[in-house]
Amino acid sequence: MHPHAWLDDVRSSPYADQLAAGFRLLRFSRPLEREYRDYLREDTFGLKRVVLAVGMLVWLAFAAFDFVLIKAPEVWWILAVRFAVLLLLGLFGALLIQRKNIHLLQPLSLASLLVLGAAAALVVGIAHRVDPSYPYEGLLLICMAAYFLVGLRLIQALSCSLLVLLAYVGVESWVGSVPLPRLINNTLFLLFGNLMGAVGCYLLEFKSREHFLISRLMRVLADHDSLTGLHNRRSFNRQFERLWRQAQREHCSLALLLCDVDHFKAYNDQYGHQAGDNVLQRIGSLLQDAARRPLDMAVRLGGEEFAVLLYNIDETQARNHAEALLQALQALNIEHVGSDTASMLTMSIGISCVQPSGTGALAQLYEHADRALYEAKAFGRNQVVA
Ligand code: GH3
Ligand code: MG
Ligand code: MG
Repeated sequence: MHPHAWLDDVRSSPYADQLAAGFRLLRFSRPLEREYRDYLREDTFGLKRVVLAVGMLVWLAFAAFDFVLIKAPEVWWILAVRFAVLLLLGLFGALLIQRKNIHLLQPLSLASLLVLGAAAALVVGIAHRVDPSYPYEGLLLICMAAYFLVGLRLIQALSCSLLVLLAYVGVESWVGSVPLPRLINNTLFLLFGNLMGAVGCYLLEFKSREHFLISRLMRVLADHDSLTGLHNRRSFNRQFERLWRQAQREHCSLALLLCDVDHFKAYNDQYGHQAGDNVLQRIGSLLQDAARRPLDMAVRLGGEEFAVLLYNIDETQARNHAEALLQALQALNIEHVGSDTASMLTMSIGISCVQPSGTGALAQLYEHADRALYEAKAFGRNQVVA
């Protein structure tokens, strides 16, 4: 069975589509790929700063070992290289202390690893002139940091590590203190180490991408009603605050249309619950069409009650919108013999319209629209009251 067979139940969303299509080559479709990279950058920012600090400490510790263990003038060259790198890393760290430099994160991470790798290769090369048994395996630590610690994508980590490997081979050939068979041996060891790192990194990135898609999809599901696909009340409450503040800043007015299907209990009794569900879906898409602009919002509040929040609209326009909705529902011509109001299914709409000021206004806006809706019901249903 497909590992994400449950997606069949999920309304189409780019996250669900990508999960179903798979991403074995570690690449999403274009807009999602961008979103994933932004997410990754945000997600690994703190981690990278910690890794940089730890990396500097480890580098310093190696410098201390070199100082104690290498008894030759070459040690000063090695220490010079080590401190130059430390200085550079310190500079990167200083840049990354502030969050506003987050756009530098990716290039600086790559630069740090490349500088570290090249410098480590140089240190090993110099040390091999004095002591051929000086450990070259430390280079693998830098590759592992690229694969597992810094939050790079596989392609970046792999390129970075292979460049480090190339630097090592280059330096050793240039210095010429290691015989060729040993150099081949060392290079093979580093290559196999990298192979393991790359496989691990692939699995990690695959899981990270999967986690990204699933968590985004869960958020979409938690915010939408499963029957109609409209926003649910939870999402409405959360987004309302944001829209309210935005409308306040931009001096726009907001209109809330509360819609309630007339005699819906009778409809269910007459035609069955399944037919009732179908009707709710059709009304859902009517409302969705009515809330097409980016800051408009169609919501299923619960049962057969819906809301449409319209941004930057005055009362007359809102009333026209609502009238158009009633007409669109009439145009669907859904038979309802049990209705006292008409021979077809109808709904009633209460409107409230405000120019936002102050805070905590949802309750008030809602109350006004609810009162208007109550009047629409009392005046005989199938009408708009503002
Ligand atoms: P009114 O004109 O005064 O609004 O009367 P009404 O019958 O529409 O209102 P009432 O609140 O008495 O009944 C609402 C009905 O909506 C009751 C319930 O059976 C039905 N309902 C609520 N949620 C769903 C649903 O998800 N699917 C279906 N099929 N029916 C639902
Ligand atoms: Mg009703
Ligand atoms: Mg109701």
